[in-house]
Amino acid sequence: MSAEATAFIAIGSNLGNPRRQVDRAIAALAKLPDSQLVAVSPWYRSAAIGPGEQPDYLNGVAELHTRLPARLLLAALQSIEQAQGRQRNQRWAARTLDLDILLYGDQVVTEPDLTVPHPRLAERNFVLYPLADLVPTLVLPNGTPLTELLAKCESGGIVRDSDGE
Ligand code: AMP
Repeated sequence: MSAEATAFIAIGSNLGNPRRQVDRAIAALAKLPDSQLVAVSPWYRSAAIGPGEQPDYLNGVAELHTRLPARLLLAALQSIEQAQGRQRNQRWAARTLDLDILLYGDQVVTEPDLTVPHPRLAERNFVLYPLADLVPTLVLPNGTPLTELLAKCESGGIVRDSDGE
C-alpha cells in the first residue's frame, strides 16, 4: 500500500448541463478506491478557450486524500470522464467533463502522458482561484507560493458561480 498523498483535481465542464456533470463527477470522486474526498471548492464560470462558439465552462477543484499512485489516479479520472460521455476527438473541444491532476503531494512527474504539477496550472485563473479557496497558503513543489501565481494571473473572465446554472 503506498503512502497517502493529498491530490488536487481540476474539474471542468461546458456541455450537457455542466452543473449536473460536475455534481456527478464529485459523486464519482467520492467513490474512488483507497481515497477520501476531503473538500470541494466553490464553482467558477468562465468563457471557453478554443475553436468556435462554445458554452461557458464551470470549473472547480476537489481535494482528495488518496493512496492510489498518481498514474492509477489518472486512469481512474479518465474512466470517470468516459463514463460521463467524454469524446476524445479534438483538443480544446467542448467537453462534458475534464478532470486533471493539478498536484499530487509534492511529487513532480514528467512523463509523456502525465505531468504533475499540471503544466498549465500557473496560467489558468479558473484553477488558481478555486485552489486558493481551498488552501490559500499552498506552496508548489518548486517552492512557489500559490499567492505569487495568483498575483501574476489575469483576474478577468471568471465569475464565482452562485447556483451553477
Ligand atoms: P485533456 O484533453 O486536457 O483532458 O488532456 C488529456 C491528456 O493529458 C491525457 O492523455 C493525459 O495523459 C494527459 N495528461 C498529462 N498530464 C496530466 C495531468 N496532470 N492530469 C490529467 N491529464 C494529464
